Amino acid sequence: MTKADSILIIEDDPGISRMLQVLLDSEGYAVAVARSGGVGLSLARANNPDLILLDLGLPDCNGTDLLVRGDVLAQIPVIVVTARGQEDEKVRALDAGADDYVVKPFGSAELLARIRAALRRRSRPEERPPKRYSWQGLVLDCASRTVSVDGEEVHLTPHEYDLLAVLVDNRGKALTHHAIQRQVWGCVSTGNFQTLRVTMASLRRKIKDCPSHPRFIRTEVGVGYRFLGE
Ligand code: CA
Repeated sequence: MTKADSILIIEDDPGISRMLQVLLDSEGYAVAVARSGGVGLSLARANNPDLILLDLGLPDCNGTDLLVRGDVLAQIPVIVVTARGQEDEKVRALDAGADDYVVKPFGSAELLARIRAALRRRSRPEERPPKRYSWQGLVLDCASRTVSVDGEEVHLTPHEYDLLAVLVDNRGKALTHHAIQRQVWGCVSTGNFQTLRVTMASLRRKIKDCPSHPRFIRTEVGVGYRFLGE
């Protein structure tokens, strides 16, 4: 039997942490729980877990502060757990290095899917960006910078191509507007994402993706975008 993936839960609410512990135990993960940011950071350093579930509202700190301060957390995939309506918190946490987020109250199936996706990304061989990526009719060839959808070549501008490549490179992961702007346009964000939105609309039109029923790119409301492929 291979070693179980280990998950550290940093959550002060006893009800939620117990529920998470039972759920993750039953899925075969090795689970540890910390009730404060300080203890969480010590356990992360001592045990080097495969993944961390991080509550943002902790008694001794904000979860995002841990991401900023905690060198060790940079090496471990982190899924933050936020309350509904905390869009700014989500964005701050993702920009500080969190991999993903779930919003309370979340369903078990959704959480487990996010965990599996984050663990999969972690074990994916480093090839950035992939030389050739293919998913559900979309093919992106990095050597020739060409894209086709359902067998037809799509003519993208350099920024549209870069935007798609950044999303594909981070597939499965929620990327903030800031992070995308930095990677595609190379500029420090001013909080004006109009150019990104216009480029995204044009890209979606060309790859025949519908924002309300996305096949490739999902809008994460108030946060950014996520490429849906594996
Ligand atoms: Ca809390």
